[in-house]
Amino acid sequence: MTTRTVPTGLDADWAQQVRELARERNAVILAHNYQLPEIQDIADYVGDSLGLSRIAAETDADEVIFCGVHFMAETAKILSPDRRVFIPDANAGCSLADTIDADQLRAWKAEHPDAVVVSYVNTTAEVKALTDVCCTSSNAVDVVNSIDPDQEILFLPDQFLGAHVRRRTGRENIHVWAGECHVHADISPTNLVDTVTANPGAELYVHPECGCTTSALWMAESGELPQENTHILSTGGMLEAARKSTSEKVLVATEIGMLHQLRKANPATEFMPVNPKAACPYMQMITAEKLLACLRNQTDEIFVDEKIAAAARGAVERMVAIGNPGGGE
Ligand code: SF4
Repeated sequence: MTTRTVPTGLDADWAQQVRELARERNAVILAHNYQLPEIQDIADYVGDSLGLSRIAAETDADEVIFCGVHFMAETAKILSPDRRVFIPDANAGCSLADTIDADQLRAWKAEHPDAVVVSYVNTTAEVKALTDVCCTSSNAVDVVNSIDPDQEILFLPDQFLGAHVRRRTGRENIHVWAGECHVHADISPTNLVDTVTANPGAELYVHPECGCTTSALWMAESGELPQENTHILSTGGMLEAARKSTSEKVLVATEIGMLHQLRKANPATEFMPVNPKAACPYMQMITAEKLLACLRNQTDEIFVDEKIAAAARGAVERMVAIGNPGGGE
């Protein structure tokens, strides 16, 4: 593990302090792929939301420090109810998860009482508790295909992932919630075409939540983008592809924190963002200073009502039973 930078306002030995406190508390530090580089470098594990939640469920540590956004730490708590789970700043939300709350979902379900509810993992525990089966960007198509073709589906909260699933499954009976992540929505088809045109021969990794995904698929199939070089991948899928890549250059359409892991996974390839401004402000709320404070002061702890946690866990477990969950965002 290496720490390359000393964040402003911290002592040079901040990383050592974090490690010592984590050891004293018997805490495991998990960091999402979109975290600031210094947080990724100090963590015990770096990964995608579901992968990290599974590590939280299996760890021997007494405490889990989840460096990511709130719904991710909540999912870790849902899968690991007997362990104390902390997030260095409970205000680190998610604009996508915030597009639908439990009351809105109840009202939507009341309009379609026979529909099966499929929720992407970027949702709150309360929304998961009202969900029949969760999905990730890796398995959304498989999850929808596992449902009776005549059965109406409510798909939420991401409209781009929903459009991707509707197109791949060819189903007309999917109602898609009009939610979006402002970070991914900012990666537009124009960004994509301009960057691809300026970098002929480069491979292109696109996250299915991006505003450009459906256009990217359409453009790849119609020949406007090089089909063989265009890959729609979850964050876990991007890492796997990066490790194997022999390309000189890869263009990446997702949150820019992902580039740190991709560059570490394959230093021989140049990884370039499609939109260098696509940074998640919520992910960046988790700073080294707050991580230190979290370990020192035991803040902020995540609590999920037991009944809600049990119902939400059921929706996650039904997804895992279908297979290939990958890791979510
Ligand atoms: S990048 Fe978007 S979907 Fe991901 S945590 Fe940030 S706001 Fe949520």
